[in-house]
Amino acid sequence: KSAGEIRHDDVDSLESHFPPCMRNLHQHLRADAHLKYFGRVQFGLFLKGIGLPLEEALVYWRKAFHRLTDDEFQKKSYAYGVRYNYGVEGKRTNWTPYSCMKIITSNQPSAGDHHGCPFKHFSPDNLRDLVGRYGCGDSGASEVLRIAKAGHYQVACTRLFELTRGEVHKQANRIAAGGDAEGAGGGGGMVETIEHPNQFFDMSFKGQD
Ligand code: SF4
Repeated sequence: KSAGEIRHDDVDSLESHFPPCMRNLHQHLRADAHLKYFGRVQFGLFLKGIGLPLEEALVYWRKAFHRLTDDEFQKKSYAYGVRYNYGVEGKRTNWTPYSCMKIITSNQPSAGDHHGCPFKHFSPDNLRDLVGRYGCGDSGASEVLRIAKAGHYQVACTRLFELTRGEVHKQANRIAAGGDAEGAGGGGGMVETIEHPNQFFDMSFKGQD
């Protein structure tokens, strides 16, 4: 199953399949009707990766920035930025969505930024709130937080996936036993390690009923 080509008004209903980094950006976009530059790039390329075409992306971002006039939306380069992500402006590169490693290691967020990887960049309290909203229970949240605190950000994300939707994704290719999976509470190894936010989305989307 694939999400296929999606429309601007499908995005909200797909949020339950977003990984924590993208759910966080989406929620801030909805609350503030704005995202700063790196947030727009990280989330915009992710949406491109899940199947939002350029014309739909332009409508999506225009509506999301609803406090701006059409003129401001054009003049402040927001529309340009969307077209740039799709390779029809500037260098005309068909940019690919960022991997976890790129999100974790580049463009470190500062105050007021919402991009990045929550497992690396959030305070423990904020991370617990975000993880709690996935419904993995107190002990599951504590386990995920422990793994993140040890610096295994993608393993923490994978563990969250397993705890909340992993049963339908049992696969032979296990996370290497020991090593990074250590500390995953003995229940790790059911799904492929998350390497990419779009992988999280695809695995979640395919696993739904
Ligand atoms: Fe996003 Fe990857 Fe971090 Fe998960 S590990 S929250 S998919 S950047």
